[in-house]
Amino acid sequence: MHQTTIRNTVRCTGIGLHGGRKVELVLRPAPEDTGILFALRSGSGTSFLSPKPRLVVDTGLATSLGNGHDSIATVEHLLAAVRGMGIDNIRIEVQGRELPIMDGSAASFVYLLNQAGVRRQGKARKVLAITRPLTFEKDGKYIKATPHDGFEVDCTIQFAHPLIGRQNLCMEVTPDAFAADIAKARTFGFLREVEYLHANGLALGGTLDNAVVLDEFGVLNTDGLRYPDEFVRHKMLDFVGDMAVMGLPLQGRFEIFASGHALNNAFLRFLEDNASEYLEERILDLPASAPQSVSENAPVRGNLRGQPALA
Ligand SMILES: [Zn+2]
Repeated sequence: MHQTTIRNTVRCTGIGLHGGRKVELVLRPAPEDTGILFALRSGSGTSFLSPKPRLVVDTGLATSLGNGHDSIATVEHLLAAVRGMGIDNIRIEVQGRELPIMDGSAASFVYLLNQAGVRRQGKARKVLAITRPLTFEKDGKYIKATPHDGFEVDCTIQFAHPLIGRQNLCMEVTPDAFAADIAKARTFGFLREVEYLHANGLALGGTLDNAVVLDEFGVLNTDGLRYPDEFVRHKMLDFVGDMAVMGLPLQGRFEIFASGHALNNAFLRFLEDNASEYLEERILDLPASAPQSVSENAPVRGNLRGQPALA
């Protein structure tokens, strides 16, 4: 399995969820072994940030990263798209303190990445593989990880709401599966929380255009839901994005119950602290039929169709 990057530079603008202001985003190809690199542009210049579990500085409403100088909020949906589409190396340039919320899902980012195109690079993909089963539990919520040759997520949520209740979805997260079944699921919130946030100057960019909003009985969005179980699909999307701050793609099977940004990050910090017990860095085999040297510009056939995401 080769490393990948994007073929062309692409850009978009959108509104930040928290500040409600316009944000500019540019995605550029990056050399092998770069990983995901944020270039945070501000009036005083550009600072760089490679996601790591301990650079997550806030998990309140969304996942935020900080490098001591600058911070960037709401990274999880773009990171989910990058990881979900099997992209190893990418430079993410942002003008502003948060990523655009777009429609509250990862669909716009998947569209942007598909517009950029994905290209195969010469070096083999590196992953962090789970080597021993572990259960990470807090307040009845848990993440169970087991060794697995791929990236499988079995996600369950439970909300005391007539439209949500208990929902479960289990899937091997490949680029095709991510794009078809996960990317379009929107973030969701409850009307009472949204009113509270707005009253406190938070989530100023949050509207029915970028979130599913529920009252006590149902959905306020006039178009309804995109999937009957859109809620569990979005939690899976968030999990894929939150795991991407590990730097290298994780390889394993993850059974998660009622997890959110805070537990996801606490789990990664635990994994990092106990890496020798539970993790192993692996270099995935290149296909036997691959030529000795692969052109940097070799295309990925069929727009990633059929390519395992993280294996
Ligand atoms: Zn989310």
